[in-house]
Amino acid sequence: MKKFPVSTTNLIDGYGKTFNVGFVSSHVVAGTNLFSDMFASISDVFGGRSETYRNQLASIKKEAIDELILEAKKLGGDALVGVSVDFDEISGGNKSMFMVTAVGTAVKLEQANVIKPDFIVDKMASRLSSEELRVMRLKADYLELNAKGSLKFTEENIADIIEYEIFDLCVPLLEFYKNAYNDGSPSLNSRIVEYSLSIFKGMEPSEAEKIIYSFLGKSLSLDFMLLKVCKDLGLVDYDCIAKVIKSAELKSKQNALHFIMVNKNEYKYGDIAKMEGLLEVLSTAFPPLSEVMQVKTIMGSKSVWKCVCGCENSEKISYCTSCNCDIFGFKSKSITADDVCILLKKDVEILKNNLTNI
Ligand SMILES: [Zn+2]
Repeated sequence: MKKFPVSTTNLIDGYGKTFNVGFVSSHVVAGTNLFSDMFASISDVFGGRSETYRNQLASIKKEAIDELILEAKKLGGDALVGVSVDFDEISGGNKSMFMVTAVGTAVKLEQANVIKPDFIVDKMASRLSSEELRVMRLKADYLELNAKGSLKFTEENIADIIEYEIFDLCVPLLEFYKNAYNDGSPSLNSRIVEYSLSIFKGMEPSEAEKIIYSFLGKSLSLDFMLLKVCKDLGLVDYDCIAKVIKSAELKSKQNALHFIMVNKNEYKYGDIAKMEGLLEVLSTAFPPLSEVMQVKTIMGSKSVWKCVCGCENSEKISYCTSCNCDIFGFKSKSITADDVCILLKKDVEILKNNLTNI
């Protein structure tokens, strides 16, 4: 029979998501003889007996865990996580007993690295309720409409998409928003856009990250909405950000800087090289947009720089008097490439000192 996985942590190696099915506990009480024997023979603890006690303790512990597994199976679990075992002494009168208590959480496992098939065969159930059938019909209808290119996103069907987690429609939905924003559609309600992007919360984070970042830099307004999701979910794709900063126009590049500042869910060794690559890109990505030039005045001449808005500003002025941008095109008080570089360099240092390549 397959070994029943038991872990003291909240993870089971080799598996992805787990679903809690219940808390389980077991108690095994050992007779007084074990306890009294232990103390009666304390003098020869280095002798052969200590070995016996250790074996006895181990066997009681095993008994408690076996019972825990049985409880977990009764609840339909196929693994135990967060398992801990406690030894307690119960004294009463002149009797002492030894109690072993094991506790844990029974979970159901979902195999990692299994590519989710189409939603219809997502869960091959042995039975379906008519409600489940209704939802599947609805999903199928939406996907069919989308495949024909005739799905119009409305407040109503967006609610369905989120409720029934129709992840296959995430890309078309973002495509729709991108176009609507870029066409300046007046009907686009940012509250609804924000709400609809909450669908990513139900998705596998790596999958959500891939989709969201594939839209980075495609629409200035959409960038702003996506940034909120990335902050909520801790999603950062340094490679995508670097790509946008290398090639996009100034405003998109500036937007992308904000994504670098998002706190990632977790940092891995591989991130260091990506962050260093990004630093490299940043070092040349925001050159001054103007040279300092000499212009003739009635009094003689003065040094000026030409702003993105076309306005000429004296060299002594950092921010354009007309549009409030500096020579690099950054508005005052906005995040600049320098700000980001300083933070990124610090993070790289810390990660280098604390992460190993395992
Ligand atoms: Zn200006």
